[in-house]
Amino acid sequence: MAVTLVQERLGASSMAEQVLRTIGPVVLLGPPGAGKGTQSKRITEHYHIPQVSTGDLLREHVRQQTPLGIEVQAIIARGELVPDHLVCDIVAWRLRQPDADRGFILDGFPRTQKQAAWLDSFLKFEFFETGKWASWLPIVIRIQVDYNKLLLRITGRRTCPTCGAIYNVHSNPPLVDEICDKDGTKLVIRDDDRDEVIRERLDTYERQTKPVAEYYDKLGRLVTINGDQSVDDVSAAILKEIDGRACGVASGTEAKGN
Ligand code: ADP
Ligand code: ADP
Repeated sequence: MAVTLVQERLGASSMAEQVLRTIGPVVLLGPPGAGKGTQSKRITEHYHIPQVSTGDLLREHVRQQTPLGIEVQAIIARGELVPDHLVCDIVAWRLRQPDADRGFILDGFPRTQKQAAWLDSFLKFEFFETGKWASWLPIVIRIQVDYNKLLLRITGRRTCPTCGAIYNVHSNPPLVDEICDKDGTKLVIRDDDRDEVIRERLDTYERQTKPVAEYYDKLGRLVTINGDQSVDDVSAAILKEIDGRACGVASGTEAKGN
């Protein structure tokens, strides 16, 4: 009954399109604190495609003290980048899970030119050549935020270790101080969200990740969005871009490589 009502209001076909549509790869670029994680979660809710956050995946390895986690924890703690081959292996594993078949949001990947080149060939061979998708080229969205605002956002960030919800003591505080609204867990400050590491991470972004944006720009793939707006306005701008450029299902009618 409830479903029928919703279908009538939305129109049955628009609901089905929303659920079944192939979105393809979406890359969110931007410095630490720009809002990539916050926006990824909203895109996930909207299109039902998974968020693939290399930061979250790496932190989970560290938390579980896997061999990889032990190898990378000091690197992350210093605010440096984990070696490309290690990150690419994790991403390959994640993108091969069945829930990524209609698309995914890459949050925090690629972060170097080598990772970007690796991603190109991975998408081409695993999603396009196999006939899964009509295009392998990602939708690349860069979220841009003023440097001083980034500092404020990062120092105010709190996350829920249970459900991954992201809060901010200044702009998006939980209802009860330091407690997650969704599951009541005590919120944590990420180990690398501390003053001495933050500047290193922002420098690393300038040196190693900005060239990735330039790479996608030269390919005509880069869209820059003003991340200084409210969370809702940034989401609206991102969803508009994705709606206009989703890759669709492989039909044989679109030119290869488009
Ligand atoms: P990133 O994943 O890019 O590092 P996050 O999504 O974790 O960024 O956001 C960093 C911090 O900024 C979080 O505390 C989040 O609540 C806050 N934040 C995100 N987007 C906005 C926004 N548009 N306006 C104000 N604060 C924001
Ligand atoms: P933020 O959300 O603040 O941009 P992330 O959670 O994406 O930070 O990343 C945290 C840390 O994990 C990085 O500083 C880096 O050490 C490591 N990391 C995450 N993604 C990558 C990547 N694609 N390549 C190398 N290191 C990465």
